[in-house]
Parts: sequence; C-alpha cells; structure tokens
Amino acid sequence: MVNIIVIGAGVVGLSSAVSIQREFPGLKVKVMADKFYEETTSIGAAGVFLPMSTNTPGVPIDVLTRWCETSWNAFSKMATSDQASTTGQTLSHGFVLNRTRMTEIPLYAKFVYGFRKMTSEELIRLGVYDNFRFGYEVTTIITNMRKYLTWLMNQFTSNGGEIEKRKLGSLSELCAQCDVVVNCSGLGGRQLCEDKLIYPIRGHLIKVDAPSVKDWIYTDAMAQIFPSDDFTVIGEVRGKEHDYSKTLDPSDSQGIMKRCLRAWPALTGAKILGDWVGLRPMREPVRLETEVMRLPQGTLNVVHNYGHGFNGVALSWGTAVETTEKVKEILSKQPLSKL
Ligand SMILES: Cc1cc2nc3c(=O)[nH]c(=O)nc-3n(C[C@H](O)[C@H](O)[C@H](O)COP(=O)(O)OP(=O)(O)OC[C@H]3O[C@@H](n4cnc5c(N)ncnc54)[C@H](O)[C@@H]3O)c2cc1C
Repeated sequence: MVNIIVIGAGVVGLSSAVSIQREFPGLKVKVMADKFYEETTSIGAAGVFLPMSTNTPGVPIDVLTRWCETSWNAFSKMATSDQASTTGQTLSHGFVLNRTRMTEIPLYAKFVYGFRKMTSEELIRLGVYDNFRFGYEVTTIITNMRKYLTWLMNQFTSNGGEIEKRKLGSLSELCAQCDVVVNCSGLGGRQLCEDKLIYPIRGHLIKVDAPSVKDWIYTDAMAQIFPSDDFTVIGEVRGKEHDYSKTLDPSDSQGIMKRCLRAWPALTGAKILGDWVGLRPMREPVRLETEVMRLPQGTLNVVHNYGHGFNGVALSWGTAVETTEKVKEILSKQPLSKL
C-alpha cells in the first residue's frame, strides 16, 4: 500500500510525481508504468518551449497561460542555474518563419527571453527559401529530454519514490491500493479510461550531427530544426492525425530531409544519426480534473492529467503543480490510509 500511485513515467507523470513529493514529503509515492525512459514519447520530444494556444485547443486561455507561466518559471530557473548541464535546459535562439501572415501574437511571446517581429529586409537578409515572408526572432529554452527525464527520475527515487513496471488493464485494479491515483498515461488514457477524445498525432524526427547549426528554425512549411546540446533534430511540424503506426516510412525521411535542407541549406552535409517516430497524445481539451470513481470494490479518487498533445514538455511542470493542488484538495477531505 502506498499513498499515491502515479500512472506514467513520461515527462507528465514524472513531473507530477516529483511535484507531489515536494508538496508532501512524508507521503509514499509510486510511479507505475509499462514503459520507461527510452520507450516513452517524452524521450523523443524536441523539448522546445514554444506553446501556442492553437496547439492546445479547448483549454481556456487564462488556464493555459497559468500552466505555461508555472512551467516557464521552473524551466527558466533550471536553465540559468549551476545545475543546467544536469537538468538539460539550454537558452536557445531561433526563428519562426511563415509563408502566411501570423495574425495573433503567440502565447509563448509573454514568457520567453526574447521575442521580436522580423522585418521583410531581415527575412531577405537571412536568405531562407520557401517564401517565408513573415517571421519572429525568439530566444527560448530547449530541454534535452534524455537529461531531463533522467534528472526527474533521480529526484523521484532519491526522495524515496517507488517504481513498478506494470501494464494496467483498468484503473479499477488500483482500488484499495492507495489514497489517490494520478493518471498521467498519455495516449494510454484511451484504453484506461475508454476516452475516445484522445488520439495520436504522429511525429517523425531525424537526429543529425550538425554542430555548425546553432539556431533553431520552426516553419509553416513542414520543416523544423532544433539543435540541442549534443545533436540536432529535424522534422515535420504537424504529422499525421489518428495514425497509430510507429513504423518508419523511408519516403517520410526523404521528405523531411528535402524540406529541411530547402528551409535551411546550412544543414547540407549533416550526418544522419537515426530516425524516431512518436505519437503525440492529443486531446481537446487536455484532461486535468478530479474523478471520484464509485466501483463495486469501493471508491477510487483519481486526478487525471493527460492529453498534452504538441506541448507536453512546455506544459509539464504547470500541469504537475495543478495536479498536486487537486491531490491536496482530496487529501484535505479524507484521512490518509494507515501504512
Ligand atoms: C515528434 C515530436 C516532437 C515533440 N516536440 C515537442 C516539443 O518540442 N515541445 C513540447 O512541449 N512537446 C513536444 N512534443 C510533445 C510531447 O512529447 C508530449 O506531449 C509528451 O511527451 C507527453 O508526455 P506524457 O508523459 O503525457 O506521455 P508519454 O511520454 O507517452 O508517457 C505515458 C506514460 O504512461 C504509461 N502508460 C500508458 N498506459 C498505461 C497503462 N495502461 N499501464 C501502465 N502504464 C501506462 C506509459 O508506459 C508511459 O510511461 C513532441 C512530440 C513528438 C511526437
């Protein structure tokens, strides 16, 4: 018996588990998941902080802004601390380049270190192709997900957290096993909660060795380039919706290479290190709510935190803190189990 079981060992689950431990140092917390580290979606994310409201539909803008602000403050603190090379955050300068006019100032503009609309002359001077007539120059944070997930896991276990590798068939299996279940199962919510609102948006990235590329590029021409501290990932921007296949399609790889080289010719000659396909857990809206499940075996208190889609890294700490508040609310109304 433990107090809290967090389902999921992706960035959302581990952030929630660590946030709960910080709030309740005396509680026994367990992370339960069938996939860890290398097998999660979170490991492959580009890790850039560029949240946009259009990519997180259905969440009221004040709520989304609050999540982003909490995450940004946490990432910014890590990025500028003496621990940054361990936690994985790097300040990173880049360009958002579009062929069509961007009508709204994006949400991330409120938080990032630098944000500026580029002039047509600057875009011409940059010399990029594909008729990018509109652009922003941005300085944000990129998180190296290998480092960050390792750091989160180390935080969790050194705070006394337990780990169990297990695939759950249903949330009811956890009835009478803990005081609160925190459900951060990402796309797994579709089966665990029979939630038809969550679906995958497939994403394909190619890891390349391009040490001379220092700035990132994010375009509306299905090309994005994100250097991190030890390699660069290039890819499409959106990917296929409702596609569960993680099988690599060589024609996709060719398309990505072609578009990225066209958008940023300085990539020419970059050595390909490998391809990766991940499924973004997309839901409108992100599910962050409490559910009291009345089951034949008893009552199960659940806080759901899944469906972060395109912005799972950027929203991870903000939604983890809000999840912790919901756990706090539940615990304030019921006595803790005697362990
Ligand atoms: C190509 C690509 C690029 C991306 N780039 C960015 C980016 O730059 N910035 C950004 O903010 N976001 C980005 N994302 C999105 C981000 O990766 C996701 O939103 C985020 O990783 C979701 O995290 P998660 O913890 O919810 O899910 P996951 O990492 O998928 O973890 C889910 C966990 O739940 C567990 N689980 C599920 N079902 C069960 C079950 N039945 N029993 C036990 N365990 C279960 C799994 O084992 C796993 O541990 C990108 C995504 C892709 C695909």
